[in-house]
Amino acid sequence: MVDYQTLENEMVGNWIIPSEKVAHVQMNNSLEHALLVLTRTGYTAIPVLDSSYRFHGLISMPKIMDAILGIERIEFEKLETLKVGEFMSHNIPRFKAHYSLYHGLEALVNNPFLCVVDGDDQFLGILTRRVLLKQWKKDLIEAKEIEAIS
Ligand code: AMP
Repeated sequence: MVDYQTLENEMVGNWIIPSEKVAHVQMNNSLEHALLVLTRTGYTAIPVLDSSYRFHGLISMPKIMDAILGIERIEFEKLETLKVGEFMSHNIPRFKAHYSLYHGLEALVNNPFLCVVDGDDQFLGILTRRVLLKQWKKDLIEAKEIEAIS
């Protein structure tokens, strides 16, 4: 139930999409690879991890396009050689699994998803708006049904 009490008591960690189900790229992947992953998944931004699964930032479609934007044309041939690590966004807020869901909801107002890490920046997963909205919708429908039979 997504009421105020639940938001205060529930931990972000119980609501995340776990890391193994999150599309991601690695720092040394090419921008071409990142563009392929973003295009195939349909996401506009995905996490960037290192080989030990530590979180470093996000790579997004606008960052990739910016990297290959020449003065007169888009230099697509650069995609193969440029590395994700050089063009990703670094200053991404990191959330901890024990933070309250209310804290998460506040941050989701301005971010489509939140990256959740442990104390060592090990990537645990993401909290998305969709997960919370789905639950909220379910709760509203259940409440309406209970009201109808009482
Ligand atoms: P949603 O709330 O499901 O629309 O997701 C919002 C954003 O979260 C998407 O645009 C992606 O950037 C990111 N996202 C959601 N699910 C995944 C996933 N499984 N792997 C990687 N990124 C995801």
